Amino acid sequence: MPRTPPSIAIIGAGMGGLAAAATLRQAGLDVKVYEQAPHFERVGAGIQMMPNSMKVLRRIGVEEKVRGISFEPYSHLNREWDTGKVIRELPMPESLFGAPYLCMHRADLHSALVSVLPRETVQLDKKLVGLEQTSRQVTLAFADGTRAQANAVVAADGVHSLVRELIIGPDMPLHKGRIAYRAIFPAALLNGFDIGRSRTKWWGLDRHIVIYYTRADRSELYFVTSVPEPAEWLTRESWSAKGDVKELRKAYEGFHSEVRQVLEACPDCHKWAILEREPLPRWSDGRVALLGDACHPMTPYMAQGAATAIEDAAVLARCLKEVDGEDIEGAFQRYEAHRKPRTSRIQAISSANTWMKGGDDDTSWLYGYDAWNVPLTPTESLARTT
Ligand SMILES: Cc1cc2nc3c(=O)[nH]c(=O)nc-3n(C[C@H](O)[C@H](O)[C@H](O)COP(=O)(O)OP(=O)(O)OC[C@H]3O[C@@H](n4cnc5c(N)ncnc54)[C@H](O)[C@@H]3O)c2cc1C
Repeated sequence: MPRTPPSIAIIGAGMGGLAAAATLRQAGLDVKVYEQAPHFERVGAGIQMMPNSMKVLRRIGVEEKVRGISFEPYSHLNREWDTGKVIRELPMPESLFGAPYLCMHRADLHSALVSVLPRETVQLDKKLVGLEQTSRQVTLAFADGTRAQANAVVAADGVHSLVRELIIGPDMPLHKGRIAYRAIFPAALLNGFDIGRSRTKWWGLDRHIVIYYTRADRSELYFVTSVPEPAEWLTRESWSAKGDVKELRKAYEGFHSEVRQVLEACPDCHKWAILEREPLPRWSDGRVALLGDACHPMTPYMAQGAATAIEDAAVLARCLKEVDGEDIEGAFQRYEAHRKPRTSRIQAISSANTWMKGGDDDTSWLYGYDAWNVPLTPTESLARTT
């Protein structure tokens, strides 16, 4: 008799939730995504996708949708803030790690992920407010008074995850007094100045700025910074919070003229509180598991937050594919056992902000990782602290 596939409710239609919807569907699971937003906003930001996440995107049909429109940088280029001296450059041809390194508009990646899912998979305007589980299923309660049931829940509800709070306990993410300014704007505003063929990180003493094109035709560019913020500035939702472009320029006054040209041309900027967490004691509780920023939020300094959420999606699908509905808890534990050592390592390096700051450390463990083919860690190696 053909088996009935387990039903999985995914909370959150960000990069992680959508990628999980695609990978779990491919694994034969019955998937629904519940997203609190009534519609998708076109968030004005760029995003870098490294080969490790591109390999996942390739198999779910997203690579082909973003490839033609994205900018493919020649290298990761790291330069000193004032002299411009190159402190480390890593050329990133596709042949190096078996997938391209692409920079794009964040909304283009999001739309591509939405487009590989059947329309009815994602339900908007569904804000989760509570959940209850029994040994066989989970009941979800939404703010509009409706309920839904599933055999299991994957919570991809971001850094302020309600589900994390419900299954692990309440606490606040860490804010170490740093913020990111970001802006995306037409390259025509640079009046002929070309920011070059690479994605460049300019390393200052206590601040940095990363600059790259987001379109294949170099018609649009993006930058994102990290600067100390003297006041305790924090908003719960910061994708839409505005920054002051004059303050931003002042923060980068002594920087190399190439940086200043970009900041002078920038018409407007946004401001984002940089949040992170220490690795969680566990990622799941029974039939409810966390994914992406909900369980391993990190600083954006290695450009791996969305990438690791996308990797999670592939590994979770591999773990769930093996179950017949009876051992979902075990599948969630195998997923955590495999993923947590890697994401904890990335969280720590990202927090310290030392990635490619000179030296010639190995980068293949990060960019060469293949979530579809890496051997899965046995569950016995999962040492939970609670
Ligand atoms: C400035 C900046 C630059 C970055 N650059 C990069 C980069 O270049 N590359 C990279 O890989 N990563 C980057 N990141 C990190 C990346 O943005 C995040 O790690 C990624 O968005 C996490 O995806 P997610 O799906 O886990 O969470 P989110 O993208 O936060 O999605 C969570 C979703 O859940 C929904 N939700 C929340 N609560 C509920 C609820 N109760 N009910 C229903 N829905 C709910 C939200 O509305 C949202 O749609 C950057 C981050 C920042 C801040």
